[in-house]
Formats: sequence, C-alpha cells, structure tokens
Amino acid sequence: MTSFSELNLSESLVKGLTALEYHDMTPIQATALPLILAGRDVIAQAQTGSGKTAAFALGLLHQLDTTVVRLHGLVLCPTRELADQVSKEIRRIARPLPNVKVLTLCGGVPLRPHLASLAHEPHIVVGTPGRILELIRKQALPLKALQILVLDEADRMLDMGFAADIDAIVKAPPQQRQTLLFSATYPEQTRAIAERHLRDPETVTIDNGDSGPDIEQRLYEVADGSRKLDALVDLLVTQRPESAIVFCNTRNDTRDVAESLDRCGFSVLALHGELDQRERDEMLVRFANRSCTVLVATDVAARGLDIKELPLVVNYDVASDADAHIHRIGRTGRAGARGLAITLMTPREAARISAIAERMGQALIRQPLPQVNGKPRPLLSAYLTIAVDGGRTDKLRPGDLLGALTGDAGLPGDAVGKIDIFPTRSYVAIARNHADSALKRLRDGKIKGRNFRVRPIGH
Ligand code: AMP
Repeated sequence: MTSFSELNLSESLVKGLTALEYHDMTPIQATALPLILAGRDVIAQAQTGSGKTAAFALGLLHQLDTTVVRLHGLVLCPTRELADQVSKEIRRIARPLPNVKVLTLCGGVPLRPHLASLAHEPHIVVGTPGRILELIRKQALPLKALQILVLDEADRMLDMGFAADIDAIVKAPPQQRQTLLFSATYPEQTRAIAERHLRDPETVTIDNGDSGPDIEQRLYEVADGSRKLDALVDLLVTQRPESAIVFCNTRNDTRDVAESLDRCGFSVLALHGELDQRERDEMLVRFANRSCTVLVATDVAARGLDIKELPLVVNYDVASDADAHIHRIGRTGRAGARGLAITLMTPREAARISAIAERMGQALIRQPLPQVNGKPRPLLSAYLTIAVDGGRTDKLRPGDLLGALTGDAGLPGDAVGKIDIFPTRSYVAIARNHADSALKRLRDGKIKGRNFRVRPIGH
C-alpha cells in the first residue's frame, strides 16, 4: 500500500494531503497508519524526517468529531521546538477540517496564559510533560474525553528525565484510549514505559534508509587502538569544525583523549559522570558559547545534552550497540543542517560495525584516512569564558554585562559572545584576543554599580 487513498481516511483529509503534495506514504506511514487507524496501540521506531508526525497527526484527526468541543488527543514531546513543529504539522493536515483547535503548552513560560487559553477546550494539545502534568494537577486540562495519547521522541523524553511525569500523565483517567509511542531508538527505558502503558501494542520498525536526517557517515579503519589518537587529531585539524563531540566508550578513555587533545593545543573538555552539577553546567556553557571546540564524552554523560546543529560527531570507539550509535550521530544534522558523523574503527570492532550497518539499512564503507600535509594548526576556540559571581538573584541581566564591557569606549560589541545568566552566576564569552582587556575591565569597574568577583575559566 503506498497511496493515502487506500486507507479509510475521509475524502477531505486525503484531498488536503494532496494539496500539501503528500502523494505517496512514507515507509513509516505505510506500515503504521493501517494499525493506527484501526485503533491499535503502536510502538513505532522512526526518526525525525521519516514522516512520523503526519502518521500520528492523521491518527488524531481521523476520528475527530469537530462538532464536539472536547480534548480528543494529547501529544507529549521532549522540547518546545519539537512541540511547535508538531503543532504546525497537525494544523497543516487539519486544514480541510472545520475549526480544529490545536494548543501548544510547554514549560518555561508563565502558567497563567495557559490557564486562560484552556478556558475554551481545545481538540488537540501538544506539550512538554512537566507543564502538561502541572495543568492536569490543577485540573485545568480535562482528560475525560481523551481518546489518543502520543508519546513523541519517547527516548529523548526519558533521557531528559521525564519518566515520572510521563507515568503520572499516562495513569490519569480515562484508561480506555489508544496510545502511540514514537522513538528513534528503543533502549531498555523506553521498552519499560511501553510495557507499563501500552495495551497489546504492535511494533513497527523502519530502516533509517535515506529518509532520515541528513547525516553523512564516514568510517575510517586504523590498525589498532594506539593509532586512534593521531587519526582523531588529523581528522579534527582537516575538518576544523566549529564544535564537535567525540564519543568514547569508557570514562578513562574520555579523560585520556581529552588530555591528549589538550596537549596538542585544542580547546577541549571531558564530560564524565563524576562532575557535580555546577561543573557540568559550566562545561556545557563553554561548549555552547564556543569557548570549547571539542567535547569528549561517554554516552551516559552526554544524556540529555540538547546541542543543536553540531557539525561533527566523532565515534572514537564504535558504540557498543546500534541504538547508542544512532543516538550519538543524531546529535549532528539536526534542524535541517547537514551533519557529518565519523567513526574510527579497528579490525576488532568490525562485528559491531556490521550490526550497526544492518540495523540502519545502510552500507558503511571503510575509507582511507585523509593525508595531513605539513604541521597541523591546532583547533583553538573562537571565544574564552569569564565567570561572574552574580546572577539572576542579583537582578543581573545580559544587558548589564554587555554595558559593563562595551560602555565608555570599552570593548567593541562584536567581541562579546553569548551571555548565560544562572541564579547566582553568569558567564560571558569573549573573543579570544579581547579576553585580557575584558577581564581587566570587569575587575576594575563595576557591573550595575556593584563589584562582583570575576574569574576566567579554562584560560
Ligand atoms: P517528520 O518525520 O514528521 O519530521 O516529517 C518530515 C517531513 O516530511 C515534514 O516536512 C513533512 O511535512 C514531510 N512529509 C511527511 N509525510 C510526507 C509524505 N507522505 N509525502 C511527502 N512529504 C511528507
């Protein structure tokens, strides 16, 4: 089955799809839609870009009676960006139906406008688990008539620590409803959620094929593990990415690789499980504000990291299973940007590569390592970070720091990069060649009329 008209969808929905130039179903749609429309619970393993949103949007809209003003469907997403995209896609597909009300409700913004918007019951709500649960607990989100619950990017939601919230939401009545779970990977935690909450589910799996995100995968073979470090340095100096994550399988490797890169002159940090929250925050700030070019991490340490449009992911070690590999490389090539995922392998890792290639339905061809001529220039970050021991509780705003740095013939505006304000600390990225004068200025002068302790980090 490849055409939407072969499904028992209403004529107006099919016409609407044609108007959107959705002529043929994508593989996930062809496999999952007959089950979804038949009212089955479904576990669908599908990536962003596979057409999964339209698959569940059609499930939501197929049975919707627009003459009844009741909450019919709820979609849970890991992030606001995804929730916005999902709402947009549902609205596009709902265009031929009269007056479908879709609301997006995500955390991080005041609750009051959400409460107000729920005064008129929507047909479909798309939101993040924390905010949705908050609204359910306030009895602002009536679930009595709910027929379909969608867990979108379930693996990412669980990675981000939403398991308890999801459990609480799913347990809310009514229990007789259809649940659809979409996930790029299917690790143990996702399996457990599915077992707890889905009724006799059907599982559909689609090879990533070429419908997945735009990620180029390259595989380089080295003779043995001791050659990997040189290979990594060569790759980084030839690719010269603005930022990159390097994945290792063990914490020790993470530390060794980061130390070696540091000795070679790279701006590098190692993210491992032993950091306290403040150290972890600080590292992530420095990576995101471009004061650190290379982040070396284990899979566990990188959990919940939401870094977008990373140009390069390097697998220093081949991941221990295909799920982990898919997760790792999914951090590049997001949001429409083309990504590059490089894997370094030794002959001993060949079996894992075969398993990954099979799972992804994609041949991974070994290539010779690129030749590096002459002495390579190390990869220094464009910025350095200065930490200020004052933050939101001191009523510091980005403008105060910018003013202190650039006012009265101070630094040029473009020397100041990203500014992050935490409750009791702030971080400013400064272009490398202005870092000393920025530090002096902040130490000698005042910020918002006050003296704050200021220190460079990692210079
Ligand atoms: P998604 O995987 O849901 O993020 O969808 C990826 C993109 O494919 C979106 O831009 C959709 O609008 C588009 N799309 C979904 N289904 C189809 C289809 N059957 N034919 C053409 N484009 C589609």
